[in-house]
Amino acid sequence: MGRRGGRRCDNCEFALPEGARASRRFCSGACRAEQWRKLRRSREVYAAAVAELAVLGIGRGPSAGELRAQRPKARCPVCGQWWWVGLRKRADAVYCSPRCRTAAWRERTGQVPAWLAELRARARP
Ligand SMILES: [Zn+2]
Ligand SMILES: [Zn+2]
Repeated sequence: MGRRGGRRCDNCEFALPEGARASRRFCSGACRAEQWRKLRRSREVYAAAVAELAVLGIGRGPSAGELRAQRPKARCPVCGQWWWVGLRKRADAVYCSPRCRTAAWRERTGQVPAWLAELRARARP
């Protein structure tokens, strides 16, 4: 069993109530959630930094298996490029870049940008 008294919330240092379970680490659900957010953010910041380096280095996005395991990947429906959700973008973003978003919008009005037409011509064998 845990020690008596003196135990404090891992997040805000508030004293845990007398008789709290040994496994209890936080004074409240809000503190537990906040701690989770902090942890996740620090992991995201790290992953984003690694991803940026990979992008700069090989120009094709991250290749580390670790990143693949950690981050949800999405494929841009316009250029087919894989990109990592959450890397400078909202989780519900669809396109890899503003350029592709604009292209998708243009395509609906019947004008395919030259760069995209060329990209597709190359992609199709
Ligand atoms: Zn707390
Ligand atoms: Zn794209």
